[in-house]
Formats: sequence, structure tokens, C-alpha cells
Amino acid sequence: MLRVVESIEAVREACDEARKAGKRVGLVPTMGALHEGHLQLVEACREEAEFVVVSIFVNPTQFGPSEDFTRYPRTLEADVAGCEKAGADLIFAPSASTMYPRGFSATHVEVAGISDMLEGASRPGHFRGVATVVLKLFTIVQPDVAHFGAKDYQQQLVIRRMVEDLNVRVAVRVVPTVREADGLAMSSRNRYLSPEQRAAATVLSRALFSARDAVHAGLRQGDRVRQILRETIECERLANLDYAEVADADTLEPLGDWEPGRRVVALLAVRVGSTRLIDNLVLAE
Ligand code: AMP
Repeated sequence: MLRVVESIEAVREACDEARKAGKRVGLVPTMGALHEGHLQLVEACREEAEFVVVSIFVNPTQFGPSEDFTRYPRTLEADVAGCEKAGADLIFAPSASTMYPRGFSATHVEVAGISDMLEGASRPGHFRGVATVVLKLFTIVQPDVAHFGAKDYQQQLVIRRMVEDLNVRVAVRVVPTVREADGLAMSSRNRYLSPEQRAAATVLSRALFSARDAVHAGLRQGDRVRQILRETIECERLANLDYAEVADADTLEPLGDWEPGRRVVALLAVRVGSTRLIDNLVLAE
């Protein structure tokens, strides 16, 4: 039976009890407004852990001052129903004052290097907020395993780096991006889109798939692949490119020409109206 708790003490108690019963504890951190992509994370977590905690917390510290924190969708009732179906055991839905009792925390985690490029450059402070809240969640839940989405490619690299550097005892798993039938990566922010914008938003996946086709056909020049991405986005009247990068899949170092066998990822951030969407695709492994 799925329980929803708001206090840190209640989560700790439930997780301690599960561990005492010999259960492995899994964690899926989210900001709620759950869709099929999130639920796949819960299902994957369920396969490895007998006690699955889903955290639902719209974390203020990872939003910039002009971003969508206040209007971010909050749909707790539907989220609970989805989590129940996907096999979660506990939802941890704390308030901001539970997570940050003395205002925004002074202590923070900064994963240097990987946090500064791409999303980090466009959204200063974003990954500091993410890394800090995820470490707090790891400390509260003490999961054996935690699941993240490949949809937020740079985020999973930041988390993995943090876990390695700080010796956090958790196995980090990454689940492939779940897409709508027309290719659009599922995102809580897709609900901001008007019907016309929703149609235009497929330009991200179209650009990524074109890039992958070209790479599969033998292209190994970063500049040419970036050009394919840029030109595809520019053809869509409602879309405005923030960045289109072709990078080493492990370090996110931007690539020029690469040798066969290199793992390469393409990453996009695009505004459709006032909604900022991100997507990525591994082009070569
Ligand atoms: P969010 O609630 O947007 O912070 O996302 C919570 C977790 O769900 C993150 O690890 C995301 O990468 C993951 N996620 C979001 N959208 C998708 C998707 N379309 N497919 C797979 N995972 C996703």
C-alpha cells in the first residue's frame, strides 16, 4: 500500500523498517507532474529494489530567478495514482521549509567542471541546486539504488560524478528517454505548449534523429553534425535555438572530427514560445 509522507523522520522510519526486513531501498527523485517517462523510472527501480521511494519536490534552488518555479505544474493526486500503479511504496513530498528550514541552504554541493557547460552555462546555479538536493535526498533515504532519466543527460553525469567523488554508497542507474509517438521527449513542461507549439516541438527529436542518421551513414565531423542540428531547428518558425552541441558522451567536451569507437552525444536546448525544452541523443557508441 502506497503511503505519502511529508516529514524527513517519517521517510527515515519507513526506510529503516524496510531495510530491517531485508529489503533493498530504491529512490526515484522527481519534481512531480509525473508522466510515463517518470513511471518507467519507478518500474525500473522496482525491478531492483523491494522498497521504492519516489520523491516529489519542486526544488526552488535549481530554478533561476526568471524561470518557471511558481508556475511549475503540481499534480500530486494524479502523481500518487501513477506511482501506485508503477509499484512505488512511499512518496516523499516535503515542503520547501522541510528541505530548507533556514531558508535556502548555505551549504551546497558544486560539481565543478561538468556543471559549468551547456545547461549550467544557460542556467547559472542550476546544477548546484540539483546536486545539493539530490545529496540531501540520498542522505535522507539512504537508497541502495537510484534511478535517473537519460532525458536529462548532463544531470545524470553531474550526479554520477558527485556520487563517485563523495563516495556516496548508492548505485546510480540511467533509464532511456521515453518519447511520445511523434518523437517528442516526454517532459512535465510539454503541458505549457499550445497545440501549435506542441506540433513545432517535434523539431528537437527530428534534428537529433537526422544527426544520428548522418552519423550512422559515416559522418564523423562535429561541425557538420552541429550544422545539421542548427539548420533543422532554424527551419521551424516557432523554435529558437539556445544551444546545439556535439560532445564526448562521458565528459561533454565539444568534438571536432572524431575517430571510430568514440562515444558521442548530441544535446539540444530550444525555446518554443516561452517554454524551454531540452533533448539529447547518443549518436555513436
Ligand atoms: P523531473 O521531474 O523533470 O526533475 O525528472 C525526474 C526524473 O525523471 C529525472 O531523472 C529525469 O531525467 C527523468 N525523466 C524526465 N523525463 C523523462 C523521460 N521522457 N524519459 C525518461 N526519464 C525522464
